[in-house]
Amino acid sequence: MLIDSHAHLDMEEFNEDLETVIERAVEGGVERIITIGIDLESSIKAIDIANRYSFIYATAGVHPHDADRATDEVLTELQNLAKNKRIVAWGEIGLDFFRNRSPREKQIEAFKTQLEIAYDLDLPVIIHNREADKETIEILKAHRNGIHKGVIHCFSSDYETALTFMDMGFYISIPGVVTFTNASKLKDVAKRIPLDRMIVETDCPFLAPVPKRGKRNEPLFVTHTARVIADLRGISFEELAEITTRNSKTLYNID
Ligand SMILES: [Zn+2]
Ligand SMILES: [Zn+2]
Repeated sequence: MLIDSHAHLDMEEFNEDLETVIERAVEGGVERIITIGIDLESSIKAIDIANRYSFIYATAGVHPHDADRATDEVLTELQNLAKNKRIVAWGEIGLDFFRNRSPREKQIEAFKTQLEIAYDLDLPVIIHNREADKETIEILKAHRNGIHKGVIHCFSSDYETALTFMDMGFYISIPGVVTFTNASKLKDVAKRIPLDRMIVETDCPFLAPVPKRGKRNEPLFVTHTARVIADLRGISFEELAEITTRNSKTLYNID
């Protein structure tokens, strides 16, 4: 059994066949799915999906791409939504200096504000960090004495950076990219970090793992990712699945 710790089931790529996608995941051994909000609309949709399936949970937050739309009104509405019992984390939030879809200053401001909100609500945070190691670490270290409850999702930095995040209390979430032949940096991370800090995700519909690379990603495909990581670690698929499932349950406080 596995948990897909980060999916975007509300996205239009799943409009036609969401039910079948979810059935396939369950039949293939994916026992829980966390569907992630990226703005107000998607957080509402995420809760709606989580309300329909007992084994799916939702999150609320504003993605760095949409940081310039994280107004006080939007954040207040999200805070009210987050009181829903299907909401298990705040996010995804953070910094994306690769695409820079929102101005950097706006991203930083929205990130800091949402960290405060998450901690006021006592929710774990889901951090998106792309090409922004330095600033992400600075902000997290300055916040609450640098002690956190959360995950660095779709991890794309190096092993040393993983250690820095783990020292602050974060889990490291390994995406399907680890199955790509040229992903030596991520393979190194997946091979060396302590297993009790690791979780796995699809980030679907994006970034499908080999052998589905280039296709639409879906929760079932987290099994391919888990297999590759188990091989890298020299342990069985079952053991890797058991440990990462336990970690995700602890992180999101679900059973
Ligand atoms: Zn992300
Ligand atoms: Zn995401």
